Amino acid sequence: MSDLNKYRIAKIKRRTNLRQTLQNLPKVDLHRHLEGSLRLSTLAEIACEHGVDLPSYDIEELRPYVQVTTDEPPDFHAFLEKFNFLARFYSKLDCIERISYEAVADAAQDNVKYLELRFNPVTLALSQGFCFEEVVERVISAVKKAEQDFDITVKLLITIRRDYDQDISSRIVDVAIRYTDQSIVGLDLAGDEVHYSAQPFARLFNKAKEAGLGITVHAGEAAGAESVRTAVELLKADRIGHGVRASEDLTVMDLIREKGVTLEMCPTSNIQTAAVKAITRHPLRAFFQIGLPVTINTDDPSISNTTLTDEYMVAVRDIGVTVPEIKQMILTGVRAAFLPPSEKEQLEVRFTEALNGSKEESQLPRAKYSEA
Ligand SMILES: [Zn+2]
Repeated sequence: MSDLNKYRIAKIKRRTNLRQTLQNLPKVDLHRHLEGSLRLSTLAEIACEHGVDLPSYDIEELRPYVQVTTDEPPDFHAFLEKFNFLARFYSKLDCIERISYEAVADAAQDNVKYLELRFNPVTLALSQGFCFEEVVERVISAVKKAEQDFDITVKLLITIRRDYDQDISSRIVDVAIRYTDQSIVGLDLAGDEVHYSAQPFARLFNKAKEAGLGITVHAGEAAGAESVRTAVELLKADRIGHGVRASEDLTVMDLIREKGVTLEMCPTSNIQTAAVKAITRHPLRAFFQIGLPVTINTDDPSISNTTLTDEYMVAVRDIGVTVPEIKQMILTGVRAAFLPPSEKEQLEVRFTEALNGSKEESQLPRAKYSEA
């Protein structure tokens, strides 16, 4: 065998070993949208069963409608457009339940042990005339069933879109507060950051925070660092979705550090939305090195065709994060979970034990955090 072939084989082996190591890590995903977590196979089945009109019923031909493909130029609005297509498949309450269950099953398969899944009840309700409560209850019921079937703890966040008016946003906040004793732990602001400021949502988000909900805001993704400042100062965000463009302003980075705001970074998504120009320039590691609380998440596994293991691979291979640093980011995720302090402490003990082990990393004790 030539030296070149030996070199190639050794490289493939190293990559396989790295993937296995990362796959085995017990994971935390704080930023994953239910609407972006639909299996392509399920999408085709729902379309056939319920007569959803599609340009094609072949999974491969549907792929470009759902997923960002490699020949597509990175674009924030094109990325958001995929959600409009996916919303057509939440056509029946049973479909919503199935998609929610499968989203958790897929996370568990990737060794995610703690998942905060976010969804927008308006998207899911309005197209078919369901009320918000019906949608929320179906999602809760599906994730609770999945928690029984898989070794994973799941909490839910409710998402409001920036283009919503105050009336509908206020109704969503009231629903979120009503279900805080049933898995709903946080409120999220998402959508078109370029054309809609977060500022009009300050009062509602402050009300949600006073009611005990955690606050996270998509910011510093399509708009600059000032958008992050608004989210932190006015909406009192505990966490920021993405926040990559905080790197444009030292005073905003200082604000994040002072307030202990955790950044939910999603490397592949950040490239596809053009929030970051090149993956090697992603600020994840630089933020980590200057002491900002950073975590790695998936955002939309179906749209980005990714898993959390894939995102860890990108972090290590392309951004230069080390495996010990990945472990620290996982623990940062645990500390930023929207859980009561006692549950969070128990979760941290279990993750610390599992991450300190080497061969047993894929296993966490079976007991649920809330029961421990
Ligand atoms: Zn997101």
